[in-house]
Amino acid sequence: MAEYDLVIEGGTVVTPSDMFRADVGIAHGKIQAVGLGLKGTRTLDARGRLVMPGGVDTHCHIEQLREDGTTDEETFVTGSTSALAGGTTSVITFSTQFKGHGISAPLAEYRRLAAKSMVDYSFHQIITDASDDVIFREVPEVVASGVRSLKVFLTYDPLHLDDRQFLRVLAAARRTGALVTVHCENYEAIRWRIAALLADGRTGPKYHAWSRPSMVEREAAHRAIALAEMVDQPIQIFHVSCPEVAEEIERAQRRGVKVWGETCPQYFVLSSAHMDRPGFEGAKFMCSPAPRDEAASEGLWEEVRRGTLDVISSDHSGYGYDSPRGKRAHGDNAPFNDIPNGVPGLGSRLPIVFSEGVSKGRIDACEFVRLTSSNPARLFGLHPRKGTIAPGADADLVVWDAEKRVTITNDLLQHVIDYTPYDGLEVTGWPVATVRRGEIVMRDGKVQAEPGSGQFLAREPYAMIRPTGRLPDGFDASAFLV
Ligand SMILES: [Zn+2]
Repeated sequence: MAEYDLVIEGGTVVTPSDMFRADVGIAHGKIQAVGLGLKGTRTLDARGRLVMPGGVDTHCHIEQLREDGTTDEETFVTGSTSALAGGTTSVITFSTQFKGHGISAPLAEYRRLAAKSMVDYSFHQIITDASDDVIFREVPEVVASGVRSLKVFLTYDPLHLDDRQFLRVLAAARRTGALVTVHCENYEAIRWRIAALLADGRTGPKYHAWSRPSMVEREAAHRAIALAEMVDQPIQIFHVSCPEVAEEIERAQRRGVKVWGETCPQYFVLSSAHMDRPGFEGAKFMCSPAPRDEAASEGLWEEVRRGTLDVISSDHSGYGYDSPRGKRAHGDNAPFNDIPNGVPGLGSRLPIVFSEGVSKGRIDACEFVRLTSSNPARLFGLHPRKGTIAPGADADLVVWDAEKRVTITNDLLQHVIDYTPYDGLEVTGWPVATVRRGEIVMRDGKVQAEPGSGQFLAREPYAMIRPTGRLPDGFDASAFLV
């Protein structure tokens, strides 16, 4: 007699710690059993395939609100389609703040947009204006509603915070039990270099990389860590592009500071040379921090293996190339500093990391699961509901053909974006089915899910991001509303 609604049969189950042959029995959207000989009303044949937890992408920009009232081109429906096609079942996206305004109103608007999602989702709250009202009144409410991470930029006009404002965000997070995620680059150094490059007539896309060499990232990461250490507030450094930045994180981790490092597929397979393609083409590869070189990429893998960088997310950017809302917003001859930064990567994240990591022998499949699913789920308070294959967890799974060779084309990614920076990249390993809370939502590239079937993941307080209690002079400055 069938005990389960669905059994994923005969595959090799990959958990964060083990790989073994087993069936996965699913009922009521949850994993009920992992074992042999399970019987289900329906079965999904996984013989010869890996069965892994669905991807958890904790850094993607989907349908993000813009100040003019429009949004990114990628909607929650198209973004979800791309995610499911690529084996990702949960995302954390960004609710914005516009300078001079609050955070509650855009969050309410953003919740309405996200209600169409087909993957499960949560939000980071961006803080661009650390006013008294936002920091003292709105942040506690927003965090209590389950948006348990705040995002800050140390560079970019008009988003960046100065050190005092950053400290106020760190203190607010400490008071309310949120994690802070940080875009680390030195604002003034980049502005100064941009001015000099433009004065010298160097305006093409490749000078984007010249405007922000690795030391602007390293300096800001060092400063972010020092300030977070002083406040005793856990942080994650976003999109680490090179080993020099990871070394700053590693040194702090060794002293017991709660700082984690994220990197992204673009830093493994793109380099500054891509931005030097003829004409405007280089714009397709512009993101910040800028991709470096092959030695930096190999160095990042080393930092991944050491555990300094323990999350690989996409930093998916939700706008196109040949598009007035995207790279061509200011025309073909726009100087590099007027070209929007960011590359799409939600659907290509898992295949690239698997291929470059597992297929090329740099990491094993368990480490792949940790980097792309379990660790992000743990760090952002989604574990054990997400990021693992164990009884009681949501039945979010990806069935993976580890041998399948695919040349990436934009069509395969099924996003609304009109390009991928990975066009022509050959990968080994590809998702062949995706299951979200027990429902088969992708098979052989065909995504079938109901808009609105994704659930908001409210994140409760959790131990991993609790402050350490170690403060300079034992004095908790964050207890004061200053
Ligand atoms: Zn981002």
